[in-house]
Amino acid sequence: MALRFKLKRIAETYIDYIECPSCGHYSEEIDKFTTELTRVTFEGIVVVCRCGICGEIFLPRNQRIGVISFKNLRDLILRDARKRAVAIYRNIEDVKIYANYLNAVRRGEIH
Ligand SMILES: [Zn+2]
Repeated sequence: MALRFKLKRIAETYIDYIECPSCGHYSEEIDKFTTELTRVTFEGIVVVCRCGICGEIFLPRNQRIGVISFKNLRDLILRDARKRAVAIYRNIEDVKIYANYLNAVRRGEIH
């Protein structure tokens, strides 16, 4: 069964398996991975995993991102950004940059 990340009536993203690009750990469940870095963008929910074994932060390559209502999605993001003063991630590219940044910080490349 696929893993599902869902915002009711707004967006859904499915993942069949997670494979760490760094240590190769593979699972069809959340298992050793955490997903608290997942971001909601104007293009849908972009899942970000953190590997519990090696610490790598990455976007599973095989995620299927679906949007039910682009309008509701946009409203939700803008409302959230206003209310909680959080950064807006427009699309999957923004989230990739964010994940790369977190990995660089983790490796001590950015001080
Ligand atoms: Zn790993």
